[in-house]
Amino acid sequence: MRNFHENFTLKAALGWARGYLRRCGVESAALDAEVLLAHVTGLDRAGLYRESGRTLTSREAEAYRRLVARRGQREPVAYLTGKKEFMGLEFAVSPAVLIPRPETELLVEKACALAGELVSERSGLPVAGGELLLADVGTGCGAIAVSLAVFLPAARIYAIDCSPAALEVAEKNARRHGVAERISFLQGDLLTPLFDLDLTGRLDLIVANLPYVPTAELPGLMPDVRRYEPLSALDGGPDGLWPYRRLLPQARRCLAERGRLLMEIGAGQGERMSRLLADDNWSDQVIRDLAGRERVVLAAPIKPSAAAAVPF
Ligand code: GLN
Repeated sequence: MRNFHENFTLKAALGWARGYLRRCGVESAALDAEVLLAHVTGLDRAGLYRESGRTLTSREAEAYRRLVARRGQREPVAYLTGKKEFMGLEFAVSPAVLIPRPETELLVEKACALAGELVSERSGLPVAGGELLLADVGTGCGAIAVSLAVFLPAARIYAIDCSPAALEVAEKNARRHGVAERISFLQGDLLTPLFDLDLTGRLDLIVANLPYVPTAELPGLMPDVRRYEPLSALDGGPDGLWPYRRLLPQARRCLAERGRLLMEIGAGQGERMSRLLADDNWSDQVIRDLAGRERVVLAAPIKPSAAAAVPF
């Protein structure tokens, strides 16, 4: 690594890292250089500029050099620092889990809005303490489940993943945010762990950010994603919708009367997803993100006897 030396000031170290990362083709070179230096020094990003004249200790310099080198190989910043912000909360992440994406905040916002509607619909009804039963399937680091528990104090959540390593990360995040007692962590395939818990027909809301990238598109993903993130959390099979196809019958079995299913999809998958849902007798609504891309699908099972689709 050219021009790296031990007696860097913070300012000089940042300049060096920016240049190095840029030469490696990292688009967010300036931001990444700052985030990694903040991580190494324990300062916040403003602190880096306040103390820009201070010299790095040799331990800081060595740690920074190593992290910048790894970033240059496209290892994601969140894996290097071990954390990622989502919904204003800090989540621990490891290579066992997909890094939470800002786009997924839309799923959480919609889930919170729906939960609010359900609670107000029910107010006055003698439902056990107004408690809402939610499931987050494919929870990964628990970003969705933990955010929902934080923002919905009346929610009890089942967070499911097939990966025990992911569940460990999710449980740690639940403890960190003080919501572990309202989240049950279950290991298994999609919603099947709920079948043994006497929860069929009882869930108010199921949220899912399952793998939805079509297999053939995986090689075209950014190297940061393709080389470092768990492909099992991204690979949605030939058309990207296989995990959701398998989920639908299970979700129907688990949902309560007026229960809803909320799923994240990729841009351009709305139409195919709507067709899949219609064929399986669900009503649906495709919701776009701020960039106008199809991002979330809200679905409700249509009962065989119902004359019309369930209105949203
Ligand atoms: N949005 C993710 C990506 O672009 C995909 C997430 C998923 O498959 N659930 O990498």
